[in-house]
Amino acid sequence: MNAVRMRHILDTIAEMFPDARCELNHRNPFELTIAVLLSAQCTDETVNKVTATLFEKYRRPEDYMSVPLEELENDIRRIGLFRNKAANIQKLSRILIDKYDGEVPREHSALTELPGVGRKTANVVVSNAFDVPAIAVDTHVERVSKRLGIAKPDDSVLEVEKRLMKLVPREEWTITHHRLIFFGRYHCKAQNPQCDVCPLLDVCPEGKKRMKAALQPAKAKRGGSAGKSVKTAKAGNSGGASESAKAPKQEKPKATAGSKRSMNTKSKDQAPSGAST
Ligand code: SF4
Repeated sequence: MNAVRMRHILDTIAEMFPDARCELNHRNPFELTIAVLLSAQCTDETVNKVTATLFEKYRRPEDYMSVPLEELENDIRRIGLFRNKAANIQKLSRILIDKYDGEVPREHSALTELPGVGRKTANVVVSNAFDVPAIAVDTHVERVSKRLGIAKPDDSVLEVEKRLMKLVPREEWTITHHRLIFFGRYHCKAQNPQCDVCPLLDVCPEGKKRMKAALQPAKAKRGGSAGKSVKTAKAGNSGGASESAKAPKQEKPKATAGSKRSMNTKSKDQAPSGAST
């Protein structure tokens, strides 16, 4: 991936999703930390439904410590892995009270020492709560980076993050994280990427592969007159963002035959975007 191509990708996704932002509702760094912790293996939509009442009942770390674990489990039971997450929230609250005067620390290394908080969660917290540039690599960021050839198919999450940090100007790390998530959530979806109307098709190895594969049966049926379809797809790309990309809807992943073609993403395709640890 060269710098010119990367710039083209960044500018295109910026045009498609000018309002990309953190979709987890929160009012302060503590609520953001709890929301991100809850979002592992769970959609932002579900987390927001749960935190709408959770954040009214529990406002400070002391509040989470004042109830039995079973009560907190019950309050978040709509969320996957709720028992584990409830235990981590109480352990994390204890540490915040004992070591940080009830506040969320700003240092990345201190954050990753908290129970249930890994590198990705810490990146989300420092970038969104404390304006420290960071690129958190969730399932969308990983998938899109690999499809576009920004990262290699077998790169680990950390390797994807390092490649992005090298290619994206530091001051654009945080917004690029949000835009890549929106691009993956609403356009380059796990199960059904919209390659035929994608403004990045001309620079996307995965998209070209998918378009070629989609054309094969049609070509065989028409006796080799598939050129028209290719032209149509490319013409659609030249006009910038597709309508569907400009009007995002929450993705509702479902298994399709196409998922088998997805590159290295099957198990993650079915997982939500949540910033798991
Ligand atoms: S061409 Fe397809 S795979 Fe590539 S970025 Fe666009 S939607 Fe995703």
